[in-house]
Amino acid sequence: MPKNKIQHRVPWKLGLFAANQAPRCHARRKYDGSRCQAPAVTNKRVCRIHGGASPGAPKGNQNALTTGLHTAKAKADRRAAKATIRQMNELVGLINSTI
Ligand SMILES: [Zn+2]
Repeated sequence: MPKNKIQHRVPWKLGLFAANQAPRCHARRKYDGSRCQAPAVTNKRVCRIHGGASPGAPKGNQNALTTGLHTAKAKADRRAAKATIRQMNELVGLINSTI
């Protein structure tokens, strides 16, 4: 029998096959940049070691605030500015196409 075929008569092999099909961690190792490859926590992209078990910082937490560049408000402001620039570029394109 080929090695990668599931042997249904052996229950633990079926469980092992299911475990091996679990989504993998997307984190990268610091020393060589390769993928972690550990099973990811359910409904998360990363394994328990790389933060999958953590719910994250509470909303509004300012314990590690330094520049404010990555706060939700700063990100929302940048998103709004980008949308405005995109609309202005579309307007410029419309004006240029009519001239
Ligand atoms: Zn990981």
